[in-house]
Amino acid sequence: MCGIIGYVGYRDALPILLDGLRRLEYRGYDSAGVAVLEDGQIAVRKTAGKLGRLVEITSRDPVRGHVGIGHTRWATHGIPTDDNAHPHADCTGRFVVIHNGIIENFLALRERLQSEGHRFRSDTDTEALAHLIE
Ligand code: GLU
Repeated sequence: MCGIIGYVGYRDALPILLDGLRRLEYRGYDSAGVAVLEDGQIAVRKTAGKLGRLVEITSRDPVRGHVGIGHTRWATHGIPTDDNAHPHADCTGRFVVIHNGIIENFLALRERLQSEGHRFRSDTDTEALAHLIE
């Protein structure tokens, strides 16, 4: 289980994402993260721990943009760490994914993708999705 929010609009995305995650925090509370798109660049802030930690990080080092996604995690694959927090990027960083649930065949996918040269940065099942789409 997890909490997911997305925003596309004219307002600054970050406060909307953080407010949405606060409302969804009961759905996942071991890690939290956001990604915001601006001028073709994706900026990611993510951390293990409660949402308050992400709020602190983004207040010191904000992300600006009008398109974004956010996630509060309840880990199923990979312990709660900064690297295992969502969003997860493909090799290029051109896009990121967040995900709710379990990818049952992720190990087979991961092994295949690694043999094709994809570099994984987390222990999650979710990251396989990013590389698969890539
Ligand atoms: N299986 C994913 C993970 O462990 C998603 C967990 C969730 O739904 O929060 O990162």
